[in-house]
Parts: sequence; C-alpha cells; structure tokens
Amino acid sequence: MNKYKKSLLWLRRDLRLYDNAALCHALSESESVHCAFIFDSVILEALTNKEDQRVEFIWESLLQIKNELNQLGSDLIVKYGDPLNVIPELITEYQCDALYMNKDYEQYAQKRDSEIICQLKVKSFQYKDQVLYEEQEILTQAGNPYSVFTPYKNNHLKKIFLEGITQYDCESPNKNYAQIKPSRMLTLDEIGFKKSNLADVGIPVGIKGGELLIEDFKNRIHNYKLKRDFPGKKGVSYLSVHNRFGTVSIRHLAKIALENLSEGSSVWLNELIWRDFYFQILFNFPHINEGKAFKPQYNQLEFENNQEYFMAWKEGRTGYPIIDAAMRQLNNTGFMHNRLRMIVASFLVKDLLIDWRWGEAYFEEKLIDFDFSANNGGWQWAASTGCDAQPWFRIFNPVLQSRKFDPEGQFIKKYVPELCTLTSDEIHEPWADKKKNVVMRKLNLGVDYPLPIVDHSEQRIKTLAIYSPHK
Ligand SMILES: Cc1cc2nc3c(=O)[nH]c(=O)nc-3n(C[C@H](O)[C@H](O)[C@H](O)COP(=O)(O)OP(=O)(O)OC[C@H]3O[C@@H](n4cnc5c(N)ncnc54)[C@H](O)[C@@H]3O)c2cc1C
Repeated sequence: MNKYKKSLLWLRRDLRLYDNAALCHALSESESVHCAFIFDSVILEALTNKEDQRVEFIWESLLQIKNELNQLGSDLIVKYGDPLNVIPELITEYQCDALYMNKDYEQYAQKRDSEIICQLKVKSFQYKDQVLYEEQEILTQAGNPYSVFTPYKNNHLKKIFLEGITQYDCESPNKNYAQIKPSRMLTLDEIGFKKSNLADVGIPVGIKGGELLIEDFKNRIHNYKLKRDFPGKKGVSYLSVHNRFGTVSIRHLAKIALENLSEGSSVWLNELIWRDFYFQILFNFPHINEGKAFKPQYNQLEFENNQEYFMAWKEGRTGYPIIDAAMRQLNNTGFMHNRLRMIVASFLVKDLLIDWRWGEAYFEEKLIDFDFSANNGGWQWAASTGCDAQPWFRIFNPVLQSRKFDPEGQFIKKYVPELCTLTSDEIHEPWADKKKNVVMRKLNLGVDYPLPIVDHSEQRIKTLAIYSPHK
C-alpha cells in the first residue's frame, strides 16, 4: 500500500499515545503524522460553569501529550473553534492528504463528523477504539440488537474468549510523527475557562493519572466484588473519567481483568461490558437521544416535579443522610460512587416524584465522568423506563440502603459533618421516634440538619399510583 505523505490525527476522547487505533493506523499508513486536538466551541459555549473540571482534565491531559510529542521532535496542535471549520483549515495548513480519528458514538459528534467527512477533499478514516465491541458487532441469533444485559454479556464474553483482545502497538521504532517546532499551548483563559477544584479533589489526570489508578487498582481488583458497593471503602477503580476521555485504553483494562482470574476481576469485567452495552443501546435505539423513555409506555408518567424538593435534592438537604452525603460528594468532587448514583436517582424519581430527566441533566452538568450513554442508561434503569431496568414497583428504601452499604455511617460523616456525633445506629434516620430524644441532645434536628422533606412510605404509594396505569 502506498503511504499517505502527511496525515492528520484528530484526537477527541482518546487522549493517549499508546494502544490507540487511529494513531496506530496513521503511524503505519503515513510518512508523517500531525496530531491535533480542537477545543470544540460548540460544546464549550454550552457549558455555563466556567470552572469546569472536565475542561481542565482535558487541558492537563493535552499538556502531557504535548510534552511527550515535544520529546519526539513533534508537537500537539491545539486549537479552539468549530471543528467544521478548523479541520479543513488544518488539512490545508499542513498539506495533509488523510484524516484519522477514532469513532465517537454520541449524537452531536456523529453528525459533526459526518458533515466534516462529507466536505473534505482528502481520505478520512474512523476506527473503533472507545469500546470493546461496538454498534452491531453483538446481535441476537435473530440478528437484532440486544436490549437485555445478561444475554448480551454472555455473547460478549464468548466473543472475547474466542477472539482475544488485540492491543494497538503505537511504539514502533519508526515513530513518524511530523517533526515540527513546539507551539505555545492555549491557556484555559484563552478558551474562556478557569482552573476548577480538580487539583484539590485529587483526581489524577492524563495518561500518567490513568496509569497511577490502574497500578493501584490492580492490587485491589480481586476484592472488587466484596467492596464495590460500599462508598466508604476503597473498592472501585475510579477510572471512569479516564474511560470518558480515553486517557486509558479499554482494551488494556479488559486484558487486566481477564488476566487476573479472580471473582473480583470477572465482576469488574462485567462493568466494562455494561459500558459497551449502553454504547450499543445508544447506537441501535437512537430515540433515547430525544429525552424519550426507552420503553415508550413510560413517556407519559405524571411526575409532580416539585421545584423545592428538586433544590433540596441538588443541594444535599433532603434530611435523608445518605442522599445528602451523596449529593454533597457530587457537588464537592464531581464524582459519585455507583451505589449512591443508584440510590439518589431512585430517591429523586420514586420518593420525590421528579422527572428522571431533571436528574439526568443535573448529573450531566456535574459529573466529571459524564457520558451520555452510561448516564442515560443509569437514570432510565433507576426510573424503570429503561431497556433492562429496575421493575417499576421496586423502590429503594433510602434508610435500608444506607444501613446496608454505609453501616457505620463512615461515608455520611465525611460529607455531612453535622451528623458526626451520631452513632452508627442513629445516623441513618436521626428523626426516628425511638432515637429522636437522644439525637436532639446532640444536635438540633430541623435546625442544624433538616428533618426529612418527605415520608418514604407515603411517597412509595404515590409512586406506585403514577406507574401502575402504564405497566
Ligand atoms: C444514575 C446513574 C448515572 C450514571 N452516569 C454515569 C456517567 O455519566 N458516566 C459513567 O461513566 N458512568 C455512569 N454511571 C455508571 C457508574 O456509576 C460509573 O461508571 C462508576 O460509578 C464509575 O466509577 P468507577 O470508575 O470507580 O467504576 P468501576 O466500578 O471501577 O467500574 C469500571 C468502569 O466500568 C464502567 N462502568 C461501571 N459501571 C457502569 C455502568 N453501570 N454503566 C456503564 N459503565 C459502567 C465505567 O467506565 C467504570 O470506570 C451512572 C450510573 C447511574 C446509576
């Protein structure tokens, strides 16, 4: 095959220079590769918080890539603007004859990429990189996409065991990155943003941060099954933001899980497969993009949508300690543990009777690892409107969830310090009759910490009444 003279590698949510499908193809199929990243003005202008952790995470990750490329005599070209204009400009400026990128499955990106490809006069190539299996690679025997997780997972696992996992070697001795002078990196200020609290909350960034977390998790992966549901314990990997921006490789993670051979690692592999599952749901059932329920019978649920309750939920002052601790974790750090995401989502929809789309949008605004497919999947699961969701009549009891998954109240005390004098028995429902007098001697309930804004048993009955006509 004749090599392209100069190609452009457009990095997007694959911010790494190893095991990267598009990069590997570009390096082996071109004489010289220019690497570029565009801060997409269409996306960034829509963000109202200008101290956005995600923008800073990307910025820091790019800095690492830029340094790595500089050491190889090359550079990362970083621009701000609408990619519809910037990509053709870069192709012209660097006289490239091919464009390489990894696929992005989100609706906006799909539309943007196809418009760019249509108007380009040079060849363009897109690769699967973000997921293990994509689009319609895993289908039922009848040739349809799956909407139930377990058979999808079984088929997924069968394929992995049969085909193995092949990583992309971008480490060839002949690293033909374009030899160009290092340029100045755009500052956060120049793209309209400021530093966030990313450094304070201690989320390790970029390829180096991803590697640190992987090394740490490898020592704990065998315990994943035992510890993953307890937000007060260090049981999970904390890799989701790295999966979101591709500062780790999903193939590398799956390989680690497969090689570990423990019960913990196989449960963790399941979580990686949930990720693939929701990506293929997004691809095969695009109606979920329009704010629609996966199951259309649930499009007309009549939620109460009480604005005051919504504010209390967002701000972590519902009077339910586990809910408040979880929401304050999200507000303070940009992360929330998976078990807590399930509990607060269920609480918003089935205790406060608020439309799941309101919660979905709030998570979109706040989560550092926000990913449309997993977020929509998680919310529709909790609201029972989704493909393989919690049955509509199953409603988490926030107090029982709290007792089960934070038995000592260790997590609650970290984020709701006003409750730190309470015992592990009192902390989950400080308002309960038999404990209230003792609790009141320690704090002024209703003043120092709110009384519950709703009664779980009463709300449960209302929820069942909202859902039952649609079953
Ligand atoms: C209401 C709700 C909203 C959610 N929103 C998001 C979101 O916007 N972005 C996001 O990445 N995850 C989301 N999740 C899934 C899950 O909560 C996070 O992926 C997980 O908490 C991240 O922590 P971790 O990296 O330590 O995960 P681990 O437990 O270590 O899991 C490893 C990886 O598997 C993937 N993963 C784990 N659980 C899921 C899942 N249920 N669905 C899809 N992928 C999964 C993630 O990439 C994660 O990094 C949501 C879940 C719920 C219930």
